[in-house]
Amino acid sequence: MPNEPVPLVGVTGGIGSGKTAACRCFGELGRTILFADDIARDLADRDPKVREEIRREFGPQVFTPEGNLSRDALARIVFGSAGRLRALNAIMHPRVIAAVEKVRRSPPSSPYIIVEAALVYESGLDAALNAVIVLRASEETRIRRVMQRDGMDRQQVIARVHAQMNPDRAARRADFVVHNDGSVEELRERVMFLDRLLVLHVAGPRKS
Ligand code: ATP
Repeated sequence: MPNEPVPLVGVTGGIGSGKTAACRCFGELGRTILFADDIARDLADRDPKVREEIRREFGPQVFTPEGNLSRDALARIVFGSAGRLRALNAIMHPRVIAAVEKVRRSPPSSPYIIVEAALVYESGLDAALNAVIVLRASEETRIRRVMQRDGMDRQQVIARVHAQMNPDRAARRADFVVHNDGSVEELRERVMFLDRLLVLHVAGPRKS
């Protein structure tokens, strides 16, 4: 008998809102975490069909002489060009979703699987999810944290913040909103509370 699919819970939010920090807390509870960015990177490095489509769309200059995808070259092309970004997303998003679907059908090791993705609604991933958690923090907090984390200057961070979907829109569509302006300990407590809700109401009793 095929495995019953494990419920999927998306974690999203704007840059620096604390997606990865929240996922770390879910990881401490033993939950399985998938990172959409890592899946996309893996596909671009290893999947011949994905690599061919990227080459056809963006040309050989986005690959190094050794044949590795140059993320910097690709980022330079798509940043600031909505059309090129759409083309890249059209190649990547359906494959990332298919990869996530494959994992949820493998033998379960977690009552639900967390999927961290910056673009949950824009990519169509939300259709595969049982629930979506949106991380929120004030713009000032996010700017400060990203400047500190990435060593970027204020203007660079602001440009990235403003290139993203308005966080209010994502929060309105979310099942759960987690405010992350406080300490990591407060975030951990909120994640622990959510975990209990998810186990009770999203994962539910599994049929044997
Ligand atoms: P991105 O969209 O860039 O991937 P993100 O939403 O995953 O960002 P994180 O990387 O989790 O955000 O957080 C940004 C930075 O802020 C990190 O250095 C993280 O350790 C720190 N951080 C997150 N939450 C807190 C918190 N509650 N208290 C202190 N630092 C925090």
